[in-house]
Amino acid sequence: MAEHNRSVFLTGCSRGIGLEIARECLRKGWKVIGTARKSDFPDVLKKQSRFKGIHLDLSDLSRLKEEILQILDQEKPDVLINNAGIFVDADHAGPDDHWLEVWDQTMNINLKAPALLCKWFLNFHTKPNSQTSGASIINIASRASYRGDTQEYAAYAASKAGLVGLTKSIARDYSKRGVVAYSVAPGFIETDMAKDAVNLLGKDHVTAGSAFDEITQPDEVAKLVAFLAEGSIPHASGQTFHINGGSYMI
Ligand code: NAP
Repeated sequence: MAEHNRSVFLTGCSRGIGLEIARECLRKGWKVIGTARKSDFPDVLKKQSRFKGIHLDLSDLSRLKEEILQILDQEKPDVLINNAGIFVDADHAGPDDHWLEVWDQTMNINLKAPALLCKWFLNFHTKPNSQTSGASIINIASRASYRGDTQEYAAYAASKAGLVGLTKSIARDYSKRGVVAYSVAPGFIETDMAKDAVNLLGKDHVTAGSAFDEITQPDEVAKLVAFLAEGSIPHASGQTFHINGGSYMI
């Protein structure tokens, strides 16, 4: 049954897809504890009494624990949405040290930080006497998890494929213990992240192979995520939900 009083912990909601997810969850009457790395949160969020914005850098894994455990303890979120992510290129023709730096940074922010957040969220919800039911994790992966990317973005594709594997493992082990997990795999979505590709290669490049003439808007992804966060389809736990303008269909 859909829950109407949800409390959502959402990373990366200062802009882009995360901002639209936050707005959609607030529209449903839920509480949102949202994060950003350094951007100010837009007024549309700040003016809402059910929104609480927190700045934390997901690349600094050693400093995350204290802050996240405090959020779990105080806010008791029943939904975790790992949305924050980076898309950084590293050409195979470049020096190994820079290439490895990009891989480390990408893995830390896109995979290890979300994995730690999942671990702490799961431990919080399954500790003795927690009486958890209806808790959900939604991890924002990418179409790159499934179709790969160009060689420059191999770290990104690998991190997002890892996120899907993590989500499936959580679903397999925790669904019957009250926590379900889903992946959402967007194609090109019109945000700052996709802007560089549009500027560099043109809009036609990002719609190539699409079943539409236009790029997908972030509010569509947000509607899908907010629907999953309702908790009304627990038996879809472990699945990936694809939203990519029909650029591939599986
Ligand atoms: P975006 O517009 O670039 O926004 C990224 C968000 O993540 C911002 O709120 C940013 O905070 C936060 N963030 C970035 N680095 C962080 C860090 N080190 N620590 C904490 N927060 C950090 O991205 P988007 O396009 O909305 O993408 C959202 C998610 O969807 C990502 O996981 C992305 O990989 C995935 N995705 C996007 C597309 C696409 O085409 N846009 C396609 C497939 C998947 P600040 O504002 O403070 O920097």
